Amino acid sequence: TLDSTTSLRIAVQKSGRLTDKTLNLLEGIGLKFDDYKRSLLVKCLNFDVELLLIRDDDIPEYVQDGVCDLGFVGANVVEEDQMDVEILRGLNYGVCRLSLAVPKDGDIKKPEDFAGKKIATSYPGITKRYFEKKGIDVKVITLSGSVEIAPRLEIADAICDLVSTGNTLKANGLDELINIFDSETQLIKTNKPLSEGKQQLIEKILQRIEGYQKAGKSRYIMMNAPQESVERIKEIIPSLKSPTVMPLADNGMVAIHTVVPLSTFWDVMERLKEAGATGIVMLPIESMIA
Ligand code: ATP
Ligand code: MG
Repeated sequence: TLDSTTSLRIAVQKSGRLTDKTLNLLEGIGLKFDDYKRSLLVKCLNFDVELLLIRDDDIPEYVQDGVCDLGFVGANVVEEDQMDVEILRGLNYGVCRLSLAVPKDGDIKKPEDFAGKKIATSYPGITKRYFEKKGIDVKVITLSGSVEIAPRLEIADAICDLVSTGNTLKANGLDELINIFDSETQLIKTNKPLSEGKQQLIEKILQRIEGYQKAGKSRYIMMNAPQESVERIKEIIPSLKSPTVMPLADNGMVAIHTVVPLSTFWDVMERLKEAGATGIVMLPIESMIA
């Protein structure tokens, strides 16, 4: 049965690496909440949405079972759990990788060297599937945390753990050997049937996320330039649409406004200066709708 009477329920990690970034994203796309710290079920003030704050490990199952309609969770957890959910999109935060790491100066150098070895991990599913695919027999030991000390305690010969900077591995005398899974936060959706209203709300949320992400990767720039350098400046700016060019009171000068991708920003900036632009100002963009 379709429950058109209930709010769209979104699962968010209660407290951890993804919590603030997910709440910032939701606020960034215009959803308002008051005091999420106080309750596990938080009502949205301006949409028919509520957040359920839970441990990240529980999110895929809650979404699979339809307890939550959407969830924000690491691809690593989604991949580990193999639940029946739909991955709507990747969100470029919580970026990390699941890697095999071994004690420095040990004798494990390549996948085949893991044969018969003990590997400690919080991700037994992904780890086992990786070695099964390669036809290599390993012993996987499941630990819920502090995996990086397992080799020193002689519980395991190697580990398979999440890495972002690699500093934790280094501090524990481990070398990152093979990256077996690249991860980022994902927005997942239940495969249970949803009411028309919920589906429309999800569509709206998705569109806003797209605009929010595009905006994060762009900058609005304004500059002044001599009229005669406008053509050169247009060639430098790789904007999608033509820039806005406005005459200034100052004779022969114009103001140019446009949007540039952040990736090209510094390069563009330097070339604009060479082309005669002055007073270059860059602004962050909150959202891009079209
Ligand atoms: P919970 O109490 O909710 O179970 P947790 O300890 O399992 O929390 P966190 O350490 O908060 O989880 O990590 C949440 C997610 O952040 C990970 O599943 C992963 O997707 C991502 N992440 C990004 N970088 C790292 C990293 N260096 N180490 C661990 N997780 C990372
Ligand atoms: Mg967890």
